[in-house]
Amino acid sequence: MRRPAFLCWLLGALAGCGEVLTPSRTPRYPADHPTLPGEFFRWTTDRLPVRYFADTRGNMAALVAHGVGLWERQFLYGEFRGALVADSNAADVIVVWQDSVPPAAPPDTAGAVGACDGVTTILIDSASAITEALRVELRVQPGFTLAQVAACLPRVAAHEVGHTIGLLRHSSGPDDLMSGPPRVDAPTARDRATAEVLYHTQPTITPPPP
Ligand SMILES: [Zn+2]
Repeated sequence: MRRPAFLCWLLGALAGCGEVLTPSRTPRYPADHPTLPGEFFRWTTDRLPVRYFADTRGNMAALVAHGVGLWERQFLYGEFRGALVADSNAADVIVVWQDSVPPAAPPDTAGAVGACDGVTTILIDSASAITEALRVELRVQPGFTLAQVAACLPRVAAHEVGHTIGLLRHSSGPDDLMSGPPRVDAPTARDRATAEVLYHTQPTITPPPP
């Protein structure tokens, strides 16, 4: 039996984010949890590096590598690590274009919130086990320039990678990378603090089969 998937549209419904169990001087996201109260997901050390398969079209591999690298650098001791793999059957996370593949373009320096969005889907069964590889889809929105799309995609890719490391919910802080939609290009101190707490919390949700 499956629970409903986490369906996290950037412009969508999940609000609030993060699990706050221990004190820290850096504020973290609120502890309310609208989806699965008291449940935590993170990758355990025996599953590192997390294997990411990136759509072979366009610059998806670079987008995924960028997002993974940003999150790796939030940790002091390598609590999270990711690696790109060529075989989607051997992946823990699959990242694909939802519709069209945008051509490469120099990014708009101002960026454009809304020029793209993404969704991360995680299927969890009644025993709190993830049943298959996590799936991320990135989508280009109409009505924006190629430069705006090029500025949007790294930000949204990093945000969706944040979901895949276990930050399942959104921050209520509009300036956090894990707010929805994200307006910044990299994790903030709050994002980092929440991720660090998560990676020192016993998970209740089991990763997908290796
Ligand atoms: Zn999101």
